[in-house]
Amino acid sequence: MTPPKYITQTYQPLNDRLKAQGVRLVAVSKTKTVAEIMTLYQAGQRDFGENKVQELLQKKALLPDDICWHHIGHLQTNKVKYIAPFISLIQSVDSLRLLQEIDKQAALNGRIIDCLLQIHIAQEETKFGLTPAEAADLPANDAYRALQNVRIVGLMGMASFTENTGQIRNEFGQLRQLFDMLKNTCFAKKTYFKELSMGMSSDYAIAVEQGATIVRIGSLLFGERP
Ligand SMILES: *Cc1c(COP(=O)(O)O)cnc(C)c1O
Repeated sequence: MTPPKYITQTYQPLNDRLKAQGVRLVAVSKTKTVAEIMTLYQAGQRDFGENKVQELLQKKALLPDDICWHHIGHLQTNKVKYIAPFISLIQSVDSLRLLQEIDKQAALNGRIIDCLLQIHIAQEETKFGLTPAEAADLPANDAYRALQNVRIVGLMGMASFTENTGQIRNEFGQLRQLFDMLKNTCFAKKTYFKELSMGMSSDYAIAVEQGATIVRIGSLLFGERP
């Protein structure tokens, strides 16, 4: 099958620009086919993000082993066991209960699993995530401190779905401030706490300007989802 040309035409310049700024591109491949993923893989892309465990497992089985899979989106506790053997980064940890399950499954697999805390920054009600206060309280929690097999390597957030770029900038800016605050306090000795995942197709440029180290881009690379 001939890979769609537009994928690599958009990908190369975007990835080059992001790389030059020290930003990692996670290609969000949800709903996209294995052939479409292979197109980007052959162009050099290794980080891919999916939001459904079943879909992720099906694709992983058919794709090269050196892909780094990211789980991006709400993760149900009872599904952690399926991705624990291989997942590279769980980007949307939104409760201590989920973190405890990840820790348990990581231990069973003899691994340490890297995670991001998802922070609720948007004004919309529907988005998952911890409040900034909940995130700031977590490191002092005894149940959290007992965990041996998870590593919180940073924060993740989604801005409001709006045309108002001022508002988006403000929300990313708040996440960046929280990140800096945590980095200088409870995570001060943790050099691995260094990732700030924010920005999607429509707002990644603002996110990069506000200090993102990871952007999660789907439709801009692969075309609109159905
Ligand atoms: C789908 C999704 C993205 C990518 O969205 P695009 O607008 O297609 O770039 C990024 N982050 C999360 C959490 C998503 O669910």
